[in-house]
Amino acid sequence: MNLSAELDRCVMCGMCSQHCPTYQLTTNENESPRGRIALITAFTAGQVNADDTLQTHLEHCTNCRACEAYCPSGVHFGTIMNEARSLLPNRSAPSTLSPQTIRWLRIYQRSGLQKITRASGLLKLSGLAQKENLLPHIPDTPNWQDYYPASPEINHCGDVALFTGCIANVFDREALNASRRLLNALGYGVHVPPAQGCCGAIALHSGQANEAATLAQQNLDAFAKLDVQAIVHTASGCTARLSEYSQQLPDEHDFVNKIQDISQFLIGIKWPAGFPVAPLHKTVALHTPCSLQNVLHQADAPHHLLQHIPQLKIIPLTQNTRCCGGAGLYMLEQADFARQLRKQTLDALDNISPTEKIQQKIGTLVTSNLGCALHLAAGLRERGQAIVVTHPVVLLARQAGLIK
Ligand code: SF4
Ligand code: SF4
Repeated sequence: MNLSAELDRCVMCGMCSQHCPTYQLTTNENESPRGRIALITAFTAGQVNADDTLQTHLEHCTNCRACEAYCPSGVHFGTIMNEARSLLPNRSAPSTLSPQTIRWLRIYQRSGLQKITRASGLLKLSGLAQKENLLPHIPDTPNWQDYYPASPEINHCGDVALFTGCIANVFDREALNASRRLLNALGYGVHVPPAQGCCGAIALHSGQANEAATLAQQNLDAFAKLDVQAIVHTASGCTARLSEYSQQLPDEHDFVNKIQDISQFLIGIKWPAGFPVAPLHKTVALHTPCSLQNVLHQADAPHHLLQHIPQLKIIPLTQNTRCCGGAGLYMLEQADFARQLRKQTLDALDNISPTEKIQQKIGTLVTSNLGCALHLAAGLRERGQAIVVTHPVVLLARQAGLIK
């Protein structure tokens, strides 16, 4: 991308600002898309240094891309921000969860050490309590088979591939497993290529463009030989990144054209007549991740998917066009902003009409992005609210009797 041409596309109208979560929080022009574009323009022209102030304003951006959705000039703000961050000095390597780290975290939880540490007050003293609270239960992660055939009781409709990623492969296991079982039950064989890995979103958003391109190439190679209708995933933040591989690797349209959010795929296929889904006499609140809305443009897909569950009542959160602050590593690295943004989302959940809440007893919040799910669940734990955060495919697969 030609950064200077992309910056020039911005006419400084400010129509994006009122939709920017960090501008809404601070009313500081430097925390708005227009202000950030002005800062980046001045920085690339050598008029300002990459000092702490500049870096802070750029790092406060959640990369939610709400500004793109409302920009009349079609400015690709996400690309500008990724490029600008790659020009900043002292960009540290992005954090990833290695298998060894996962093993240690599992031991930490299952040995009772987590309970002891939490009770001791050590975490508060060391200032790590908020970060530690983000750690969810770590499930077992058995290896995937390379291929899961469609259910023999149903006509074979074709094959798809499941992207499992890195962090999602651990913390979104339930949703991945639910997706695989639903796809098989609906007549699709599912490939799970073992050589796939991290989508590279965290690397790209941290300004590590080369590392992001290497990770992208690894996934392109892993899926290259598969004859599939679609490549589906459960975490919309990663799916959004997969859908934009051709921005860095322009010849990769075949892969990109096959990328779909799991809800998008499931609402786009023909379901077998009489496919059994048990009624659920409950009300769930529905959160829409920014990546699903502003990048994949599939904001309504989870709602449509959940309508396969008879009797289920779905209430979309009123904050659904504003970032909850999950945003990958943002919840850890920009914890103060992330918590303020999360508060707005959780307050919207609290503000669902009291009559409705009493009548319906909302005990479930549904979201389609792992980062948002971890962040919101940690906030609910802090508030002492016994509301479960789950993925739409998990609810659906449960009602179809495919998972417990
Ligand atoms: S990507 Fe989101 S947080 Fe960043 S400037 Fe745009 S609207 Fe604001
Ligand atoms: S990014 Fe788009 S909406 Fe925002 S100030 Fe520039 S031209 Fe206007």
